[in-house]
Amino acid sequence: MPPGPDLIAIPGPSPVPARVLNAAHRASPDIYGADLAQVNLHLMAQLKRLAGTRAHLAPYIGNGHAGWEAASANIFAPGDLALVVTSGHFGRSWAEMTEGLGITVERLDFGALPPDPARLAERLSRDPEGRIRAVMVCQTDTASATMADIPAIRAAMEGHPALLVVDAIASLGCAPMRMDDWGVDVLIAASQKGMMCPPGAVFVWFSDRAAARGRTALTSPWWDWHLRAGADALWRFWGGTPPVQQIFALSEALTMILDEEGLEAVWSRHARLARATWAAVDAWSVGAGGVRLSVADPAARALSVTAVTLPGADALRAWTVRECGVTLGVGLGAPDPTGALRIAHMGHCNAGVLLGTLGAIEAGMTALDIPHGTGALEAAAASIARTT
Ligand SMILES: *Cc1c(COP(=O)(O)O)cnc(C)c1O
Repeated sequence: MPPGPDLIAIPGPSPVPARVLNAAHRASPDIYGADLAQVNLHLMAQLKRLAGTRAHLAPYIGNGHAGWEAASANIFAPGDLALVVTSGHFGRSWAEMTEGLGITVERLDFGALPPDPARLAERLSRDPEGRIRAVMVCQTDTASATMADIPAIRAAMEGHPALLVVDAIASLGCAPMRMDDWGVDVLIAASQKGMMCPPGAVFVWFSDRAAARGRTALTSPWWDWHLRAGADALWRFWGGTPPVQQIFALSEALTMILDEEGLEAVWSRHARLARATWAAVDAWSVGAGGVRLSVADPAARALSVTAVTLPGADALRAWTVRECGVTLGVGLGAPDPTGALRIAHMGHCNAGVLLGTLGAIEAGMTALDIPHGTGALEAAAASIARTT
């Protein structure tokens, strides 16, 4: 690998800012002391601001999969019916994991496209007894790089008692989320994507309506969200030893997002980086080469990651690592994963990093004789130059 900073453009774990690493770089303090307990309380308040909620929050040590299980263990009793709306690899994995807990899962599959609220409304209209306990959807499916319209999905559920459960693991802190205003009942997100932290912490926010069910036969003491959301002592929030260094890292990262840049500015930065990426890929796609954006409709695209169909993608990814120190995401879930890649613009990313990443792709396609249209870097630069 050539000298110079490495650029990691994969959709999680995302780059961790030096400030966040430094915040974590400390010896463990007394976990029974008042200082750490105070930082933890502040972090819980920051996390509620991030999600746009005044409701409840249960933190867990774990990754996104742990968050899925945490939510399901509180929402469902064995044999309950879940409707999982899928737009790619992550939605399908979520459905499988839910099924593995003994929950009856029905899938509403949209392939690699975002959910169509009308189809959801039609399905719910055929459930007059309200057997469907929850509708589960990824805001961004990170594999297909799509964006679901959460308010439209909520509107499609009008009159049905199911809970709306949203996986925002790849979108929280990147794309708009207003949990309370949008009527989301359960929200799941992990530390290592939009939150710019190392993997290892996952959060489940839940509404009064979701809390009202109380414990079920699936709610083991460790997963029980009531115990954590209603915690007093620090260890009770985390079901044991807290992830001390991670608490400092998260609090620093959320200070950067919420108090310094500002959440709405963070969302518009992601939108701006996404548009520049799309402009570049659209320019590469001119001609017969077969490079193109995997999601045709701009309104259906994620703001944190872009999926690209690109013949020769595997060789290109190897080339950009070797020659430029730029790591691109694999074509996870694509019909031909060797001919697809994903460009992450998630979390700690700015125009300099993105333009460098796009420049490395351009150089690689030229070196490897991968046919592509011209003018992509000019298009990306012009897009960045437009501030709106
Ligand atoms: C990354 C991701 C997950 C899985 O998270 P892990 O931390 O890998 O368990 C789930 N859902 C979405 C949308 C993701 O992007």
